[in-house]
Formats: sequence, structure tokens, C-alpha cells
Amino acid sequence: NALSPDIRALTDKRGQVLGGAYRLFYRTPVHLVKGKGQYLWDADGHQYLDVYNNVASIGHCHPAVIDAVCSQMGQLNTHTRYLHERILDYSDALLGTLPAEIDRAMYMCTGSEANDLAIRVARAHSGGTGIIVTKEAYHGTSDLTSGASPALGSGQPLAPTTRLVMPPDHYRVDAPDLGEWFAHEIQQQIDDMAAHGITFAGFLADSIFSSDGVLPYPRGFLQKAVEVVHANGGIFIADEVQPGFARTGESFWGFGRHGVVPDIVTTGKPMGNGIPVSGLLARHEVLASFSDQIPYFNTFGGNPVAMAAAQAVLNVIQQEGLQEHSLTVGTELLAALQTLQDKYDCVGDVRGAGLFIGFELVSDRASKTPDKTLALNLIEALREERVLTSVAGPYGNVLKLRPPLAFQADDIEWLVGALDRSLARLLA
Ligand code: PMP
Repeated sequence: NALSPDIRALTDKRGQVLGGAYRLFYRTPVHLVKGKGQYLWDADGHQYLDVYNNVASIGHCHPAVIDAVCSQMGQLNTHTRYLHERILDYSDALLGTLPAEIDRAMYMCTGSEANDLAIRVARAHSGGTGIIVTKEAYHGTSDLTSGASPALGSGQPLAPTTRLVMPPDHYRVDAPDLGEWFAHEIQQQIDDMAAHGITFAGFLADSIFSSDGVLPYPRGFLQKAVEVVHANGGIFIADEVQPGFARTGESFWGFGRHGVVPDIVTTGKPMGNGIPVSGLLARHEVLASFSDQIPYFNTFGGNPVAMAAAQAVLNVIQQEGLQEHSLTVGTELLAALQTLQDKYDCVGDVRGAGLFIGFELVSDRASKTPDKTLALNLIEALREERVLTSVAGPYGNVLKLRPPLAFQADDIEWLVGALDRSLARLLA
């Protein structure tokens, strides 16, 4: 694939000035220069449909966030060691979206920092060290969180206190009660920890299991898992970095679909629509052991500009009814994608909640053999159709369709048409 001089120059420059651990999307990288709503434009003026970015959740360059950030930036930006109303007003509003038991907020800048702190809090509270995550989980980039992120691959050692459970995959796990099966997986790992002298601290899970391939069904399957966690003295940390903030449509938080109340909730990505802001929300009793022993200060976390952005995002979600919108448009999109499942045998499963959808490709429906090559070729073909998305799951064969919530019913035709044409071309 010959790269244009512009793309070649930027790609080469990255190699010269950036650390080597960065990875680009696509065989022909995309050079984006502008965004609005659910659309992006490259340097040649081509328009793309963004079906992947859950950070710009209320839409790229939303004017409410721009105004809030610019106005607060021109007024004051300090840190949490001085009094300021914004952090208090936002905490009131944010806690108002959570179950009443969750009554305290802390702020940082990234999902990794939120999960890192959550693990430390879980350990202080439980007196244990063992953390359970799912087999393809990603929870962050710090030492603690990368040690609990098997998605980083074999080059990244897991912490000796990390234990993995198989993900609750309704498509692949043959169990009459998935919740029961999953709870048993967790109990086994808690027992294994005990056999190795490790005390269980908690279970950390993304409640839509995004990097495990987007696993939303059946609703409520987390209940038995959370019971087992509590019965063994551990805490349940709901990593809402991906499913939070109205994404799943049916509830404001991903865990809400399961009817459970976490002990700690961590947030990030969509919280500031691109301004770095993340959070840890918890019951005050759970925070107490940590708070009594260790001070917490995060230079940028919770600053007035970050809080202004986060408040603007929350306002827009509520004022524009984005949770209901995510449910309505997401349901319509899911149905449209299921017509492709009827048409193409290689589409093994289509599943989702709101605007968070997994589209799983297999080479054989009966044996459900994952087709990673087709998934990767499909991503590239969609890029040619100017639709941007990517893959997830342990086999890399699940398209993760997760557009900004600004995605409209009118966009379904572009996405589904592009998928249809691309599949027809690749299978010809
Ligand atoms: N948890 C989940 C579920 C994530 O998807 C991510 C980011 N991909 C993180 C945590 C880490 O967030 P950040 O990149 O903001 O540190």
C-alpha cells in the first residue's frame, strides 16, 4: 500500500520523535484535523463516520464543553487544596446519578489512575491483596493496573496477586445459568488465592466487558458474582470507564443493567468529553481505611476546568436526553445489524446495549470458529468506506461499534451499508 507523501512524512516523524510503544490504527493511517458531532474530517477534507470514539461521547467539539472550559480557564484554574464550588456542585450532581449508598467522590485525570486508586482502596479496606479480573480485561497503564490487564499481552507480566476468570460470554459459554457459572469461576479463583496464601481484596470488572468482546447478556448476570465477592470479604469495583455516562441506554451506568450496587465505581473517558477527568465514587465506609492512613492529592484532578467540562457533559446528557437516545438509536442499529447476521453466515453474533455493540465474525457458525483475519480486513474495508471502528475480544474477531452518543438514526444507513458492501466484497 503506497502511502501519500503527507501520511508518509507524519508516520516517519512519529518514528523519529515518539517512543516506540505507540501503535497506529490502519495500514494506511488516518490524519484527522477536524471533528463535529459524530463526524471527523481528514487533512484532504474527507468526512468520516466515527463509530468508535466513546470519549467524545456527547459529540466531537460540543459547544457546551468548549464554552464551559474556555470560560473557566479564563477565570481560574487551581487545585483541590483551595475551596471551590465547582467540585462540590459537580459531586452533588454526579452522586445523584448513583445508588444512594455511593456517597463520596474523588477525582483524577485518567481511568488508569482511578483504577489504581480503587485497587489501593480495596486493599486497605479488605486487608487483602488479591484482585480478580477477566481474561482479556484492560484496566490501565500504571504498574498496579497493567498488572491486572491481561489485554496487554504476554509481554506485560501480571501481578502475582492477580487472578483471571473466563469472561461471561453468553455466545460461547454453554451454561444454563451464566450468572451462576460466572460466580463459580470467581469462587474458584478466590480459593486458588487462599491456597497460595493470598487474601482476596476484590473483583474489578468493566460491566460491559468491552475488551473481552462486549458481553451484555443476560441482564442481571453479575448479581451472583457480586454476592460471592462479598461473601468472601472482597469488594466489587465497577470499572465504568467504558459503559458509564448513559452509553448502554438502559441505565446511566453499566452496572445498573445488572441490578447490583458496586462498592467502588471508577470513571473516565466520556466524563469530560476529551478534557482529562476521571473519578472514583465509593461508599464512605469503603474509603475510610485508606483515607485515615494516606493523603491523596492529584495535581490536575478535580480542578475547576476539569469540573466545568464534566458538569457541561452531565448537563448535556440530561438536557439532550442522551440516555434515552442511546437506547432508541442503539436498538434500531442493533436490529439493522441483525439483518446482516441473517444475510451473512460469517456474522456469528450481534449483541449490545444502547450504543455499545459487538459484531462477532466467525469462519464457521456451528463451531463458532473466530475469524480474526476477516475482522481485520473488514476494519480496513470500512476505513475505505470512511467508517472508523476497531476490534475487541480474546480472538480479535469482534467489531466494537461504539460511536459518540451524537450518532443519529440517519447514520445507520452509512454504517450498515458500508458493512454490507465490505462483507460482500471480502467474501466474493
Ligand atoms: N478501564 C477501561 C475499561 C478502559 O477501557 C480504559 C482505557 N481504554 C481504562 C480503564 C484506562 O483509562 P485511561 O486510558 O484513561 O487511563
